[in-house]
Amino acid sequence: MQYIAPGATLGVMGGGQLGRMFAHAAQQMGYFTAVLDADADSPAGLIAHHHVRSGYLDEAGLAELARHSAAITTEFENVPAQALAALAKTRPVAPGAAAVAVCQDRAAEKAHFVSCGVPCAPHALIETAGHLAGIDVSLLPGILKTARLGYDGKGQVRVRTREELAAAWAELKQAPCVLEKMLPLAYEVSVIVARGHDGQVVHFPLQQNLHRDGILAVTQVPSPDLTPPVQQRAIEAAETIASALKYVGVLCVEFFVLADGSVVANEMAPRPHNSGHYSIDACDVSQFDLQVRAMTGTPLVAPRLHSPAVMLNLLGDLWFRHGDTEVAPPWDRILALPGTHLHLYGKASARPGRKMGHLTITGAMAQQARDTALAACDLLG
Ligand code: ADP
Ligand code: MG
Repeated sequence: MQYIAPGATLGVMGGGQLGRMFAHAAQQMGYFTAVLDADADSPAGLIAHHHVRSGYLDEAGLAELARHSAAITTEFENVPAQALAALAKTRPVAPGAAAVAVCQDRAAEKAHFVSCGVPCAPHALIETAGHLAGIDVSLLPGILKTARLGYDGKGQVRVRTREELAAAWAELKQAPCVLEKMLPLAYEVSVIVARGHDGQVVHFPLQQNLHRDGILAVTQVPSPDLTPPVQQRAIEAAETIASALKYVGVLCVEFFVLADGSVVANEMAPRPHNSGHYSIDACDVSQFDLQVRAMTGTPLVAPRLHSPAVMLNLLGDLWFRHGDTEVAPPWDRILALPGTHLHLYGKASARPGRKMGHLTITGAMAQQARDTALAACDLLG
């Protein structure tokens, strides 16, 4: 692919916060940006040079995005793969439709992990009543997850017995699902890699992630529990997974680490990831910078963590800590703490569970970042 120099316009499918941070990185490097998102107030649409307000499958909208853009990426993993395939007829699209399609389906994703020799949780596909009846009880207790369109713990039910499993499948409207055995997690990490058109792969340091109610709450780098063998296994696995997909762009692979140190792939996202937001403030190149570099054929460079960091997700719940009236947290007091970096996504109203922004806390030492994060949590209420 030919290198696309600053001054060109880069397009992104989806206008959420990931698209907004992508646009910020692209603009910093001197690119113009175009966003396709139906929502007039989408976080990325608000700050892009061009906002195409259309659905992902709208032919006129896709043609307009292509007209503006020298190359196109995606920020939302559920952009229909056929929309990316249609765009790819006239413009370089990274990541490509085929790789995104694998990430959109938990069954295909797990099959890909297995084909790469990367362990994943014991699981079975449930698409019919026959599959449900034939489930091996060794998968219980387990988690039933819709094969498609799940995120932030949505589309998941924890089940202990066959009866609960049957009720959960009914609750999920008998959509195609994957039943996964519940694993005893010691901790969770993710690996973000970027891969270029030329096959070069670079990775971020591993981040350790804490989820609350299925939603990422806290990311710490360096990971406090990580051991060198776990780190090596996870990085090798993520790089193999990306290369086998001939992936171009930024890919995040989430891993479970079990008590015996074994590393199990959970899922992957074909885009920058919430667990990599710290890279904006704590690394010399961020995950969004690498997304821009990969799609434009700019050489990739290995990111260097220059400060230990803690990232706190800011969910809409924080705006309702005093009751039903929406009140923003005391940003002035929080920003008085050294090393705090506030990122708000420009969403007009807060709702419980809605990702409103994140706070990255950097420090000279990991303990210092942790202490400041605790002080920030006190102020967040
Ligand atoms: P989502 O797409 O919503 O992020 P995940 O499959 O990553 O869905 O699940 C969300 C979280 O639920 C995980 O990060 C982990 O904390 C927990 N979880 C998911 N699958 C399992 C499992 N098989 N065993 C134990 N915990 C799990
Ligand atoms: Mg997940």
